[in-house]
Amino acid sequence: MSPAAEESEGRIVVVGSLNADLTIYCERLPLPGETVHGNGFAVNPGGKSANQAVAASRLGADVRLVGAVGDDSNGEMLLSSAAGAGVDVAHVRTASAETGVAVIAVDASGENNIIISAGANGTLSPADVAAAADVLDGAAVVTLCLEVSTETVLAAAQAGHDAGATVVLNLSPYAEIPQRLADLTDVLLVNAHEASQFLGSAEIPGSDADAGDWEAVRLRFAGRGLQRVLVTLGANGSVVLDSLAAPDQQLVQIAPVKVNAVDTTGAGDAFTGAVAARLAAGAALADAAAFASIAAALATTRKGTQAAYPDEDDVKRVLA
Ligand code: ATP
Repeated sequence: MSPAAEESEGRIVVVGSLNADLTIYCERLPLPGETVHGNGFAVNPGGKSANQAVAASRLGADVRLVGAVGDDSNGEMLLSSAAGAGVDVAHVRTASAETGVAVIAVDASGENNIIISAGANGTLSPADVAAAADVLDGAAVVTLCLEVSTETVLAAAQAGHDAGATVVLNLSPYAEIPQRLADLTDVLLVNAHEASQFLGSAEIPGSDADAGDWEAVRLRFAGRGLQRVLVTLGANGSVVLDSLAAPDQQLVQIAPVKVNAVDTTGAGDAFTGAVAARLAAGAALADAAAFASIAAALATTRKGTQAAYPDEDDVKRVLA
């Protein structure tokens, strides 16, 4: 059975951030102290966790989002975008702080600068995780990122672990994590840059590398207590490092899906959401990654993040 033909089964709980993305497009990014003219402006729903929740839901998964927004128009936009994509937002609390915002400048080459103001995301705490016990109990997958406090991520990872869920941690934006969080993580999802930061300046092999080239990376992840790692390599695809402690573990390289990419913003979140969706449906990690690489590639063919994410039929058309 193809991955897309399987029925979605388990519940995904995404605990983390919602941000309004305020994007200005410009010819080139300003230098410190400089002002440049923009040539377009957009306000879009974003935040890594909201994006990942929407990506998984559009692919047919049963998704609950645990987070916080402010009592303002950005908060309303974020709730309506997530709910419109089928995400259950009953556990998104309205905080007495403004909704989180990402101020993004994008130049003509697609390079960007981003400043995030956590706002309501900064109020998300272990108490919110405790308040979501009804959805965390019985979750198949708990999906986490680092746009909310480490103590909140740790509490959610512990709750997911206690519930027998697969804990997926997207180590983004990169930050040092306590060993306890690594120990509670079943699947770590990193891009090449984050992988190298996590491993302490280890060289991450390129797209033409073979299993031997990945051996040092595998050993270093295993040394950090990780069992299963997905390394995304942008347009070069991704690599699955499974059963890291086993001597005969196999490296699986997922070839990139060739598309005409117009906007790669949020591709990593599309990938993470799709991996979560397939894991919740019972897929093996390598199958989930192969499916996610199609979903993420399709997401790059349209402008924006959440609005660009594909549904199950879009992915099925590529698989057919
Ligand atoms: P972002 O921070 O921009 O959301 P990221 O750095 O977390 O992304 P990437 O490694 O850039 O993550 O991309 C995630 C996945 O998306 C890749 O492994 C690949 O499957 C897919 N992808 C990204 N860019 C392209 C592209 N140009 N063509 C095809 N697939 C792509």
